[in-house]
Amino acid sequence: MIESTPRVGSAAEIAAELRRRDAFVMVSHVKPDGDTLGAGLALGLALKKLGKRVHYFQQDPVPRNLRFLPDSQFVSRDLPPDLPDDALFVFCDMSDMGRAGDYLPPLARENVLDVDHHLGNALFGAYNFVLPHECSTGTVVMHLLRELGAEVDRDIATCVLTTIMTDTGGFMHSNTTPEVLELSADLMRRGANKEEITEEIFLNKRVAATRLLGRIVDEMQFGHDGRYCYSHVDDAMLGETGADGEDTEDTVNTLRGQDGVEVAALFKAYDGEIRVSLRSNGRVNVQAAAKRLGGGGHFRASGLTWNGALADGIAAVERALVAEGL
Ligand code: AMP
Ligand code: MN
Ligand code: MN
Repeated sequence: MIESTPRVGSAAEIAAELRRRDAFVMVSHVKPDGDTLGAGLALGLALKKLGKRVHYFQQDPVPRNLRFLPDSQFVSRDLPPDLPDDALFVFCDMSDMGRAGDYLPPLARENVLDVDHHLGNALFGAYNFVLPHECSTGTVVMHLLRELGAEVDRDIATCVLTTIMTDTGGFMHSNTTPEVLELSADLMRRGANKEEITEEIFLNKRVAATRLLGRIVDEMQFGHDGRYCYSHVDDAMLGETGADGEDTEDTVNTLRGQDGVEVAALFKAYDGEIRVSLRSNGRVNVQAAAKRLGGGGHFRASGLTWNGALADGIAAVERALVAEGL
């Protein structure tokens, strides 16, 4: 039944719907990270073990540093022509459907399940399983796996631990609770290879990425008595260093990590658009700031897409941050 007022379902209700369906498309967001992809793969692997048909849709290619994830070789922008009409599309780790990109066919709401942990999720599915207190969408998925009675094998454990390590910044962010560490220990006992995840996601950098980081650091600007730091990347900087968009993903954390900086912004002006990554030390709510400009995310990590000139975007983001207390 389709709810007139969108609401969050219980794990039991969502698991019942998963059991009822035969075919699934796990959907991850554009510019995918280890949470959106790892969560979809974890649930997809579990559903396959229950005898279900599972596809993985993602508009962008799998980033180099996530290709170690089991089943990631099946991720595609194309859907099979013989997909049944009642296939359930499971959107992982996105606060609105638009984050999946432009390549999905129009979907009936009754075929949409929204699994997420963002603040201010639009509850865009007929079924919504959104737990904002969870550190990652992968740990939201864990509630469904328990309800389904699915065995968490080595592959599933690897995917879920990847979601946790991605969204906690390798157990560094404030969402790293004792419960998260206990679950992570359990996932390691089930065979998840923490060393491999650390190496792939955090340690292994291309030289071009490090050169690009150097350029971004060269361009750092400070304001508000050193509490605000921002920089940018453009096509020319990518060209000079030989880096690409994937190499920019966590550089905003370097800006935020400078002494005295409470809020950092990185303006990514390439591929014909300007995407802005915001990070906070916990005083200023950057989710609220991003929302003022059509974006979203979490209290300490958010993003938005700016339609306009870079200089105007820099000014608008600063105004939004000031409105949120910068
Ligand atoms: P990023 O800086 O790209 O790592 O994104 C940080 C957080 O902001 C993630 O939780 C994203 O889901 C969210 N986010 C990034 N871009 C957008 C956007 N255009 N709209 C809504 N949320 C976004
Ligand atoms: Mn994500
Ligand atoms: Mn996430």
